Amino acid sequence: MKNTRSTWLLACCLLGGWAQAQTTAASYPDKPVTLIIPFAAGGPTDVVARMMAIPMGKSLGQSVLVENVNGAGGTIASTRVARAAPNGYTIYLHHMGMATAPALYKKLPFDPLKDFEYIGQVLDVPMTLLARKDMPANTFAELLAYIKANKDKVSLADAGLGAVSNLCGLLFKSMIGVDINTIPYKGTGPAMNDVLGGQVDMLCDQTTQTVPMIKEGRVKVYGVTTTKRLAALPNIPTLDEQGLKGFEVKVWHGMYAPKGTPAPVLEKINAALRFAMQDPTVKQRMADLSSDIPPLDKITPQGLKTHLEAEIAKWDPIIRKAGVSAD
Ligand code: ASP
Repeated sequence: MKNTRSTWLLACCLLGGWAQAQTTAASYPDKPVTLIIPFAAGGPTDVVARMMAIPMGKSLGQSVLVENVNGAGGTIASTRVARAAPNGYTIYLHHMGMATAPALYKKLPFDPLKDFEYIGQVLDVPMTLLARKDMPANTFAELLAYIKANKDKVSLADAGLGAVSNLCGLLFKSMIGVDINTIPYKGTGPAMNDVLGGQVDMLCDQTTQTVPMIKEGRVKVYGVTTTKRLAALPNIPTLDEQGLKGFEVKVWHGMYAPKGTPAPVLEKINAALRFAMQDPTVKQRMADLSSDIPPLDKITPQGLKTHLEAEIAKWDPIIRKAGVSAD
């Protein structure tokens, strides 16, 4: 008799919890949603997030508020999201740093494959290698010569271990065989400000930030990190064609939520993401910034999870071989 009662009690609690989750999901969202990004305002990730927030908000019927959580190449923000309440009011936009973090950080306070729900892939963004406007090198060959002749003086900005500007810099330095002084920032927004002001020499950054500076002649640019030239920057050769054979970094992005976020809530967020990625203003702006919106079948939870698993497997040996992991 006693067991039957406790079984009934448990069933009622479980049913009550399920019903509560469905009710929550049904009324979701009934307040603004926070979209966390792991880098400082003004940088390429911030540009993408603020562009998407508007159509996502339209789709959800609530504002999507972008919050910049900086530091440690994005791992502070990833930890914050992994520990956030799984209720759909904290979502996350991060790039391929989600896949490189496990190899870069030996003691990572989160697991990219266990602590998140996957909403969908967002955007693929090429990078450009650039320098301050008065850098005394006008071609890639002159840049290499200048770096080799001034290796203790040249400075390379990035957004910290785990950032793609750091990854691009690591690959560049290892391929040219010169260990250039690296200056970390809270994002490549602030880093770019110092390139424009001449306080730092070089930066490898995403076209979502660099295309306007390049077109306005405010920086010197030496190459793109894709294997084919970019339609928006047809006169800029690839690093591959200038001698860095196989140099390729194209920055993919994903949207995540904390593990345990209810499925009906995730479905609404995925619908808002797909709506944003089909928004004509977003599509045109992304094309102008040389960025590719993935096909709709990749803007899915499985599309992102499968890609993340493949990217972790791809970058792990590359990073370990480069010997750049942090303690
Ligand atoms: N995407 C980062 C930012 O927006 C920079 C990076 O990962 O290099 O600042």
